[in-house]
Amino acid sequence: MPDTPRRDLTKSNAQFQRAVQRLPLGVASTFRYWGDDRTIYVSHGKGGRTWDIDGNSYVDYRLGYGPAILGYADDRVDAAALRGMQVGGVFALSTERELIVADRIAKMVPAAELVRFSNSGTEAVMAALRLARAHTGRDSYLLVEGGYHGLFDAAMWMANLADWDHTSNSDPEIVSYSKGIPQDLKSLAHLVPMNNLQRLHDVFKRYGNTMAAMLIEPIQGNCCSIMATVEYVQLARQLCTQYGVMLIIDEVKSGFRVGRGGIQGLMGVTPDITTFAKALANGYPIAVVAGREEVMRSFRYGGAAHGGTYTAHSVSLAAAEECLRILDETPALDTIATYGEALKTGISDILNARGIVHSYTGHPSMFGLFFAETPPDNYRAWKTSDYSFYDRMAYHLHDLGVIVEPDSREPWFICEAHGTEASCLTDTLQAVETAVDLTLEQAKAAE
Ligand code: PMP
Repeated sequence: MPDTPRRDLTKSNAQFQRAVQRLPLGVASTFRYWGDDRTIYVSHGKGGRTWDIDGNSYVDYRLGYGPAILGYADDRVDAAALRGMQVGGVFALSTERELIVADRIAKMVPAAELVRFSNSGTEAVMAALRLARAHTGRDSYLLVEGGYHGLFDAAMWMANLADWDHTSNSDPEIVSYSKGIPQDLKSLAHLVPMNNLQRLHDVFKRYGNTMAAMLIEPIQGNCCSIMATVEYVQLARQLCTQYGVMLIIDEVKSGFRVGRGGIQGLMGVTPDITTFAKALANGYPIAVVAGREEVMRSFRYGGAAHGGTYTAHSVSLAAAEECLRILDETPALDTIATYGEALKTGISDILNARGIVHSYTGHPSMFGLFFAETPPDNYRAWKTSDYSFYDRMAYHLHDLGVIVEPDSREPWFICEAHGTEASCLTDTLQAVETAVDLTLEQAKAAE
């Protein structure tokens, strides 16, 4: 790979040198550090684009990891947020708008019979797991390999594929993916590979009577948008019911994005508890834990604790009201899906013209691009595949004015503004064509 970026990042580089004196890795969230000379500092975003402090503009397919469902600085949502600001912030008391937003969510997502708010996806999933434990009186839980549920201790276990012999019959070891996680907690977490029906049967047979919850992201928004089959999620539903385990469908990324009723709506599977965040308020910090009435009533004095100073902040709540109204009442989600399909077709035309085998995973609003004939159907298949072409292509795309995650784990996120702004598609495809050719040239030179 070329050492120096083709775009001018003089100001970002200087900002990094200053910021790293005060902020670990020079950033506020570790994943934003892309190297000393490639870490970008943003000046602003509007619609489907982001500008950095050097004045480079990017068609943005990260969208802050998904929240900007309509586009950055959406005038309609921002006007609502301003009205929310005038309400006064937080009071450690309730406001009427909470019910308005909860009613809208319940209308869009039938499983959301009752609703509580949180501030982030992590917080919502933490609350969901606590609720499941309080409701069942059990402690252990089941995670699906390749899933991501936020940065809290219980969710930070993964299959150690680096040291796993995939020809053996044994499962990979479960390891935490951060230091600082008490190892004593490991015995509470079980892991299964996605889309393996037999393994799901086995794990329930063995641990089903002691598990409080199964957490699943049916579209793995943090693993190339690998999808669970409907059959797999239906089996999860059936086994959870049979063993009294709470099925938690984590829709922090897929919710209010892949459809009005989320992936659970598309698959026709009803969870006991569900979580939402990102697309809920076009980027304003608010999240939701919702579910079956009988379960949700465990949020009470003497039951599962839930709350927080900033919960249902008037600004975020007003933004959520307007964002959900738009998603529910206008064709915004159709615009997003149509653009996603057009982008995939355009990328395929470029790759096919060069004989590059590829496939897609996920949903057009959050799709993974994969350089193999068939996409992976679980984390083990993704992890043991060759994604070096993607990583090199992504590197060039940044220099050419398109932002995607530097590795193939994160899907391409689409917003409404991509579909309504005239040149997003053509600008992107032009950049993809050049990036693909540069990547091919590099591969040839390395032969
Ligand atoms: N669950 C899922 C499925 C997520 O994708 C994420 C964030 N990427 C989280 C939970 C955690 O959300 P947050 O970053 O808002 O804490």
